[in-house]
Amino acid sequence: MPKLVTIAVPCPLRRGFDYLWADALQQEPELGMRVSIPFGSRRLVGVIIATDVSSDIPSSKMKAVLKVLDSKPTLSPYLVELGRWAADYYHHPIGDCIQQMLPVTLRKAEPAKEKPAQYWQCSEQINQLPTLSARAHQQRSLLSVIEQSGQLSRRQIKDLGYSNNVLNTLINGGYLCKADAPLVKRKDQQANKPVLNSEQDEAVNAISSALGRFERFLLDGVTGSGKTEVYLRAIENCLARDEQALVLIPEIGLTPQTLQRFEQRFPKQVSTLHSGLSDGERLLNWQNIQSGKHQILLGTRSAVFTPFNKLGLIIVDEEHDASYKQQDGWRYSARDIAVKRGADHHCPVVLGSATPSLDSLHNVAQNRYQLLELRERAGGASAPSVRLLDIRNEALDEGLSKSLLDATTRTLNAGNQALIFLNRRGFSPQLQCHSCGWLANCQACDAKMTVHFGRRELRCHHCDASEALPSICPQCHNHQLIFQGPGTERLELSLKRHFPDVAVIRIDRDTTSAKGSMQSLVDDIHTGKPCILVGTQMLAKGHHFPDVTLVGIVDIDGGLFSADFRGPERSGQLLIQVAGRAGRADKLGTVYIQTHCPEHPALEALVNKGYQPFAQQLLAERRLFSLPPISFSAVIRADATSLQGAEAFLEQIRTALPIGDTQWSIVGPLPAPMTRKAGRFRAALILQAERRSLLHQHLHTACHIGDQLNKPQNLRWSVDVDPIDLF
Ligand code: ADP
Ligand code: ZN
Ligand code: ZN
Repeated sequence: MPKLVTIAVPCPLRRGFDYLWADALQQEPELGMRVSIPFGSRRLVGVIIATDVSSDIPSSKMKAVLKVLDSKPTLSPYLVELGRWAADYYHHPIGDCIQQMLPVTLRKAEPAKEKPAQYWQCSEQINQLPTLSARAHQQRSLLSVIEQSGQLSRRQIKDLGYSNNVLNTLINGGYLCKADAPLVKRKDQQANKPVLNSEQDEAVNAISSALGRFERFLLDGVTGSGKTEVYLRAIENCLARDEQALVLIPEIGLTPQTLQRFEQRFPKQVSTLHSGLSDGERLLNWQNIQSGKHQILLGTRSAVFTPFNKLGLIIVDEEHDASYKQQDGWRYSARDIAVKRGADHHCPVVLGSATPSLDSLHNVAQNRYQLLELRERAGGASAPSVRLLDIRNEALDEGLSKSLLDATTRTLNAGNQALIFLNRRGFSPQLQCHSCGWLANCQACDAKMTVHFGRRELRCHHCDASEALPSICPQCHNHQLIFQGPGTERLELSLKRHFPDVAVIRIDRDTTSAKGSMQSLVDDIHTGKPCILVGTQMLAKGHHFPDVTLVGIVDIDGGLFSADFRGPERSGQLLIQVAGRAGRADKLGTVYIQTHCPEHPALEALVNKGYQPFAQQLLAERRLFSLPPISFSAVIRADATSLQGAEAFLEQIRTALPIGDTQWSIVGPLPAPMTRKAGRFRAALILQAERRSLLHQHLHTACHIGDQLNKPQNLRWSVDVDPIDLF
């Protein structure tokens, strides 16, 4: 019998492919090895997902593995198994899953060679050198960071927000020298640790006593309550057992401050994985965790697939964050896979948030997760006071009420900073002709074009189409074009007009797209001078602004009335996250929320009672209507060059599935609320079941049918299990 193996091949088919394994390869096949294979007319890199395979196809008709790319398997048998599980669970092609689990460099046949990183440390003669001038802020700050961390690589220094220039000046001045010897652990790291308060202490004890077995925790604590400190202590106890820790953070949650805290507590033991790294750096960090050289991995979504030498603790910070769910292709949830890994590795999983998802709160209610609460702000800071501003019938100045402007004046006069939040970038979301009513719509989407005044352009935020900002109405040639509603760019201009003497700093995708620009804006804010920050949800994540004492929320109404049942949950989380930026440390904060619906029950609960009662109220509604997380759901989406094409395809899947009953429902095909996007028409089929197994059984059928159906060439379709958006 010839030897056969099954290979995960990066292609859109939902199965593995069998290949011959020739003796000439001079090696035994092992799970997780990368191989080069012929596929159609191409040569691809695949991964062995089964050995000792038998097949009915005569071996003369089979193709053979061309080359083995690894002397040792790249993926462990465990990760291969995890890939198989995830492909099943998300009904996604195994080849694509396995491929995405590999660092980019290993998806190609020839891995790039990366130079080992050069580390820097304080030089021995530092005490004989002149002290740095008081004006050299950045140099002094970097020197003290390196002093505390022991050693840092150029990359880490860059991640911490220091420019190459600053580093080079220190090197050239003789303050730093190359560090080739491994670091001796510093003793006084322990000295900087705060004394835990009793709630933190309880949390650390609960997590630490679960080390070595699978247990799930929800760490619920407002921003500034000391969650990160709890993570650090639990990790310390995990490392003491010679085990490694995985810390997942949201996409833009990895701030220099966070990394610095981990680096300082655990010098030379931290690897990072995030989109800011080069492919070579990613590979190196991946290998450092795999080999056990580094003990802690701090990474974003895809870091959940990293192989560990000995994983002992998993932490998912800001577990409610939408960036944990991949939103195209393989729509996995890194948070959910993290929990699955905890079960597989028999280790505790800690989900932390100031605004836990309803999924996790439901798991607490079901006694699956143990709730750990931090109710106090650490270090004695007090919680901000929150007020609703009823703006019905109020004259607004470019979206800002008089009360909010007055509060801003008071804040600046007191020497503090104000943060004005609006989750809408650009100058104005809508351009209209005052004479004939013409609206600037996108040609390719059912959406309005956003005005970007500084760039003199109209841009669609859904398909990125852009055109020059017209000066006259293209329909009636009148000059009276009006901007309907504000965006952050408009607020910035308006605030500059009102407060000409202070800096107005705008933080959104448009002002931070250049590398390093976010950090330089944040540095300006951290000087502590009175200023106004205006921005989108980018302000609500990761960064701490200790001198902000006023948070103004310009418009929260949209999300409360969104077409998706998750709208209120998401708006509430965002509101609390933004509010959490105010009044840290020893300064009392105030939050003002402008609204047209001050009597909205959810908003009232949120403001008067806090996030937990608000979330419990939403959860009760979900129970009443049997919506997720009470039931389990999936969405099958299709898009095509006509709505009819997309709907007809989904209709065929629908008819192949059983009709709804008490345990199972199927809704659609429904056109998406924004039906046309980038010239394509979109529709969806929504599946919901009382039991997960039932959902998967029907999804399996749906995928089978979908794969077999004759489809128009232009049709695309996808499956989304546990979706976070319906459309
Ligand atoms: P979170 O992660 O919940 O936002 P952090 O862990 O970042 O909270 O803590 C907020 C601030 O309080 C940090 O500056 C941290 O160093 C400090 N802190 C945390 N725990 C304590 C404590 N027990 N005593 C004093 N300060 C603390
Ligand atoms: Zn007109
Ligand atoms: Zn568009």
